[in-house]
Amino acid sequence: MQFVLASRNQKKLAELATVLGELGIEIVPLPADAPEPVEDGATFEENAQIKARSAAAFTGLPAIADDSGLCVDALGGAPGIYSARYCAGTDADRNARLLREMADVDDRACRFVCAVACVLPGGELCTVRGECAGELLRECRGAGGFGYDPLFYVPDYGCTFGELPPADKNRISHRGRALRALRQALRDHLTSTTQTGEMI
Ligand code: IMP
Repeated sequence: MQFVLASRNQKKLAELATVLGELGIEIVPLPADAPEPVEDGATFEENAQIKARSAAAFTGLPAIADDSGLCVDALGGAPGIYSARYCAGTDADRNARLLREMADVDDRACRFVCAVACVLPGGELCTVRGECAGELLRECRGAGGFGYDPLFYVPDYGCTFGELPPADKNRISHRGRALRALRQALRDHLTSTTQTGEMI
């Protein structure tokens, strides 16, 4: 069974193919001519659903989309759904802005959040969330990962996401958790629809 991923990011495609491969699901990329939907949801979940619905409508396939970001407690959850657009420029520019906003703040609690929405073969929607809690450092550490990774300190591991090997990050990350929750939800769904004799 094929699912379209509402992204052309090859890394996300490979990650999803690995997690869902054991369910016999093949992940295909979004066609180049698919429209870019307006992500005007108020939550990670709503934005993921907008992207999944758009990809399903365009391709006629079941579809999966994710939306993620960093939420800082002392900033009321910002940058949150605006993480990718926190300021123009590079990841380094966005990290620098975050450090400026947090310069005089002692409460460094933050979390990465990832919502994954899936338009199931029957058209129903299934949405899951993964989170990973950490602390915002006062300077970048580590050259790995991307985005806010070098500022995101994980106390249990004593290092930042930018310092963690990818396999370790995957085990505890918001995205890894959300994708495993999706796998479980899909497994449950496919089992129940098969048991009731429904075509999948
Ligand atoms: P997207 O939903 O994958 O497009 O990610 C949105 C934005 O959130 C990214 O551009 C990053 O700024 C931030 N972000 C999401 N996940 C991560 C992560 O695992 N590490 C670092 N930054 C992330």
